[in-house]
Amino acid sequence: MFQSRALEALVDELKKLPGVGKKSATRIALHLLRAPREEVDALARRMRDVREKVRLCGVCGNYTEEETCSICTDARRDASLLCVVEQPSDIALLESTGSYRGVYHVLHGVLSPLEGVRPEALRIEELVRRTPWSRGTRRRSSSRTRSRESRCSSRGSRAACPSEERSSSPTR
Ligand SMILES: [Zn+2]
Repeated sequence: MFQSRALEALVDELKKLPGVGKKSATRIALHLLRAPREEVDALARRMRDVREKVRLCGVCGNYTEEETCSICTDARRDASLLCVVEQPSDIALLESTGSYRGVYHVLHGVLSPLEGVRPEALRIEELVRRTPWSRGTRRRSSSRTRSRESRCSSRGSRAACPSEERSSSPTR
């Protein structure tokens, strides 16, 4: 189409982006070609930055540039209220409402046997470790916790155990 390999290569790369077809890819490539050099440099820098600086929060799996995200380190948030979401973008959506004061856990996907997404591919183990029930097996030893533990262990499905304290998942 173009008499430039560089331009064709850019269109091919842009086509790989979600929701970008050949027409949009061509439009973006031509826009970048005509845009001021500083603008294009800034875009290239931002793209590199996200790959180099952004990582997953060690607690909830949200995107952050620190070891732990600002939601998990916020002492004003109710840590007994855990909202399980599919993607970090769901957190941004819920936070924009300003009505939720608990913490989050990001699974980074949903179970999909047809597409081969099994529980191991999601952050379910990390979720189980964060539940009050799981913490109870290490720190607490109330009879109620012990009886739940034995019941769940006998079924061999720790993740299926409901937590004793407040935990919630939004209906989606
Ligand atoms: Zn976090």
